[in-house]
Amino acid sequence: MSMLEVEAINSFYGDSHVLFDISLEVAEHEVVALLGRNGAGKTTTLKTIAGVLSPRSGSIRLAGTPIHGLTSHLIARRGLQLVPEERRIFITLTVEENLRLAALNAAKPRPIEEIFDIFPRLRERRRATGGTLSGGEQQMLAIARALIRSPQLMLLDEPFEGLAPVIVEELVALCGRLAEAGSTIVIVEQDVRAALMLARRVYVLNNGHVAFEGTRDELLADPEITSRYLGIGLETEEP
Ligand code: ATP
Repeated sequence: MSMLEVEAINSFYGDSHVLFDISLEVAEHEVVALLGRNGAGKTTTLKTIAGVLSPRSGSIRLAGTPIHGLTSHLIARRGLQLVPEERRIFITLTVEENLRLAALNAAKPRPIEEIFDIFPRLRERRRATGGTLSGGEQQMLAIARALIRSPQLMLLDEPFEGLAPVIVEELVALCGRLAEAGSTIVIVEQDVRAALMLARRVYVLNNGHVAFEGTRDELLADPEITSRYLGIGLETEEP
């Protein structure tokens, strides 16, 4: 079953046309990466899917039901959770309070202990305030806040940004376990290597257009795409 079907969306910031006929499809239990250079339109695509920005044309379906035109709040209640780049956790509240607040108005909240089984580090830090967590722990909490709402689909915007490589490894492993347990995830990441450890299918955006769509192996076998749009492999082509 298709969990997400995005058909020919066009999005604008005021008069500025940013997304041009973007179409994507994500199957249930699939992890898909959205890659591309800075300004390619990745965050705008996630914001449009999550209803933060309304597409001017095109359609978006979540588990077969149209969601374009709904408010972000209603889309979240239908089971779509965006974990934005800026994480948006409450720094003065404890880990546990952050989680309980996220669960409060969820249609099907998961028991907090189940979340702590997935994130043992958060269980250890349950009484620590958000502001005292490390960057990696804050990112875990941001993902956990989405997960406690039993999302049908999670959109992760640059979850590994600004984190040390060893923490990125830990988070990649954690997201891998979520995927194995059946989560459906769209991940936007500048760290292409980390994103490709998780996603089997990839869309590459460029200037608001889909420049490539295919499997991870097809992408890695296409040096034209990886060097032109992702900046990978350029160094090996220089003498
Ligand atoms: P990045 O990795 O830099 O976040 P991105 O691929 O996520 O890149 P977007 O943030 O979606 O790219 O930006 C796409 C285009 O829209 C860029 O040209 C950007 O300058 C523009 N843009 C982004 N946010 C706004 C905004 N709030 N108002 C006007 N233009 C914007």
